[in-house]
Amino acid sequence: MSNLSKAKVKIIRLAANLIKESHHAVALTGAGISTPSGIPDFRSPGSGLWTRYPPMQVASLTVFRYDPEHFYEWLHPLALKLVNAKPNAAHLALVKLQSAGYLDTIITQNIDGLHTRAGSKDVLEVHGTMSTLTCIDCFKQVPAEGILQEYISHCTPPHCQDCGGILKPDVILYEEQLPVKTWIKAEETSRKCDLMIIIGTSLEVMPSAKLPVYALEHGARLIVLNRFETYIDVRAEVVIRDDVAEIVPRIAEMVLTS
Ligand SMILES: [Zn+2]
Repeated sequence: MSNLSKAKVKIIRLAANLIKESHHAVALTGAGISTPSGIPDFRSPGSGLWTRYPPMQVASLTVFRYDPEHFYEWLHPLALKLVNAKPNAAHLALVKLQSAGYLDTIITQNIDGLHTRAGSKDVLEVHGTMSTLTCIDCFKQVPAEGILQEYISHCTPPHCQDCGGILKPDVILYEEQLPVKTWIKAEETSRKCDLMIIIGTSLEVMPSAKLPVYALEHGARLIVLNRFETYIDVRAEVVIRDDVAEIVPRIAEMVLTS
């Protein structure tokens, strides 16, 4: 860690110590952990992807039901990035922490499936996933593998092989409820943990933004690793505003080697 300032090494050590002292640590991750993998934030403008149609106007259940062609046309650049994305050093560092017993569960707001692809277990995808699709007529669920590639090549909405209905990615759109069972587990996990490591989320999307409060209410400590300020920073033991693909591996390394 020679290229890091002494102050930064000190705060990384502080974070590592909190992880080592914890018995039930959970990670809460957001878009910031996947931007180093080339995936823009699904819900925020600024990437240039959303200049034609703001996501609020297109990524909604209403648009999907009445104009699926429009929805799938809008999704195309994101889908292209998703199929080509690979887990980065931060995802892999969490796998190492989890394998070594320092991390129980990962609650993620991301739909990219990168935690699971990296090898993490017990991942709660509270905003759904692009890894599966469901037919809006017969509700058959199918893996996205193959179907997404086909859609990316032709840019036409995918159809159910059983009934011909349109397949919808299992991501939570605007106007849609969060997946109930997953959300209940995420709430329970947040209440039971003794450490929550918040990574790459500015905690602006409700209700996920409330999870750290549930953790705090039950005596957990917080680590916040995010490029930008969050509302919960003042309640955290450690706050590091930096590139998470750089910081998370450094913290994991210190946990696993010291
Ligand atoms: Zn069907």
